[in-house]
Formats: sequence, C-alpha cells, structure tokens
Amino acid sequence: MNLLLLGPPGAGKGTQAKQICSALGIPHIGTGDMLRAAIASDSPLGHQVTSIIERGHLVPDETIARLVEARLSEPDAREGFLLDGFPRTLGQVALLDGILGTKRIDAVLMLVIPESVAIERLVGRGAEVGSTRMDDKIETIRERMRVYEAETKPVADAYEERGILAKIDGTGTISDVFARLQASIGRVRS
Ligand code: AMP
Repeated sequence: MNLLLLGPPGAGKGTQAKQICSALGIPHIGTGDMLRAAIASDSPLGHQVTSIIERGHLVPDETIARLVEARLSEPDAREGFLLDGFPRTLGQVALLDGILGTKRIDAVLMLVIPESVAIERLVGRGAEVGSTRMDDKIETIRERMRVYEAETKPVADAYEERGILAKIDGTGTISDVFARLQASIGRVRS
C-alpha cells in the first residue's frame, strides 16, 4: 500500500508511522527524520536546513521533494511505503504527483487532535531527558502550529477533494490511535 500520514505537530505521526509500517511491512519515510539525520551527519543538506527547522519553518519544496524522490526510488519502496510529514504544502502535493507518475496513493491518513493536547505533548517531549529535538520549545511549537494551519491544512483539503482522505481521532493512548488507524486501513483495503 502507498500511504500518507498527515497531522499537526504533536499528533503522534512518528510513533504511529512506525507501528503501521511494521504491521504492513512497508518502509517508513519520515521527512523530519531524514532531515534530522542530515543534521546529525553534518552534511551540506544538514547545514542548509538547521536554522529553518530551529525556527519551525518549512524547508523549500524542491529540496524536500528531491530527498523524497531519491528515497522512493530505492528498491524497498517499490511495493509500498508510508510517507510521514510529506507533503506539507500544496506545492509538495504537485511535486509528489510528478514523482509518483502512474503510481497512486491508496489513502491519506490524517490524525486530528485539539491544539491544546498537541502543545501539551510537545512541551512534554521537549522536556524529556535526552530529547534530541531542537524544535520542541514553546516559541517554535507555536510557529510550527501556525505553519501547519496555513500551509498543511490545504493539503488535507486537496486530498479530501480527491476522496482519499481518512480523518482519525488522534487522542487517547498510542494503542487506541493505532487501532483506529488499522480499522481505517482495513476499510481502504477491502
Ligand atoms: P517533523 O519531524 O515531521 O515534525 O519535521 C520537523 C521539521 O522538519 C519541520 O518543522 C520542518 O522544518 C522540516 N520538515 C519536515 N518535513 C518537511 C516537509 N515535507 N517540508 C518542509 N519541511 C519539512
């Protein structure tokens, strides 16, 4: 299956993506993870994106699309994949359409949570011992929320118009949310 996972910061995308991918045996392609790996390895891309991520802004569409295109061309993504955190703008939706060519997206899973719950989770994560995320501080969290509303909500609307958007309640425990996601994926498969 070719799946996309959308949702505001703090919705639990990364956690749920890993579980879905191990259940379905498809690779997890998280653009935030890829960018953090680039920063950790001190690569030119890492240098280019550090301050953007620190401020809670978005990396340019073309940059992120090139990264996704390269990853999707690897053999393990041929039989299916889950994209987590991409596309995040309408420009990226169009770029993804181009990258996929004749391949289609089976479903866009969107985790929905109230902003207050998201902020609480992110502030908690930022305060955890050993937290490696430089963008889990309150000013950056607010900016990431603003960017999500302005840039990424229209992405959900675009997929809703295509009839492939599934909204999933992202509140409750990790296993509550995973059960809802599995039910939703089951409906798409049948
Ligand atoms: P995430 O781990 O998905 O929350 O992403 C962390 C940060 O990486 C975001 O706040 C952006 O700065 C950057 N990023 C991740 N994915 C994208 C994307 N698709 N487009 C632009 N920037 C992204």
